[in-house]
Amino acid sequence: MSENVLSVIPADPHWQPAPEPGQRAAALVLEMVSGAPGDPHADPDAVELDVDWYEAISAVDCGQNLTRIDCPHCGAPVDREWYADLLEEHRGLLSTLDITTPCCTTDTSLDRLDYDWPCGFARFEIAAWNPQRLHLTAEELTAVGRALGHPVRQILARI
Ligand SMILES: [Zn+2]
Repeated sequence: MSENVLSVIPADPHWQPAPEPGQRAAALVLEMVSGAPGDPHADPDAVELDVDWYEAISAVDCGQNLTRIDCPHCGAPVDREWYADLLEEHRGLLSTLDITTPCCTTDTSLDRLDYDWPCGFARFEIAAWNPQRLHLTAEELTAVGRALGHPVRQILARI
């Protein structure tokens, strides 16, 4: 059985918060993904939160939600095997995002490829397993970003 994981990551893949703002933002995310107040279908106890500071840039991909990756330079679809092999080779932890695209050999950055659904790269991640809501609003993301001290984005994975 697959599970949903809603991750909130800094907009800048290289950026990392200090412990305190990181935990503060995580507490806010936990509250948000526990369900709307009074929602009879929400099961806040099912939610599990992982808060991670990574040594290197970590791929935060959307699991089974990834249907395609396109190259923004030539418009060709990027071979997903190539992407999977790249992550596997580095065990998901990357020292650099610099790549040469397999389609048109353009030097670019991994986070500039067009992922559908969105994927991300980060050195800090707040991951909510079994979130009771599948996405946060723009206002909520702004609030989390304010607690963190850096703008954030969300990635919804099915694992
Ligand atoms: Zn290309």
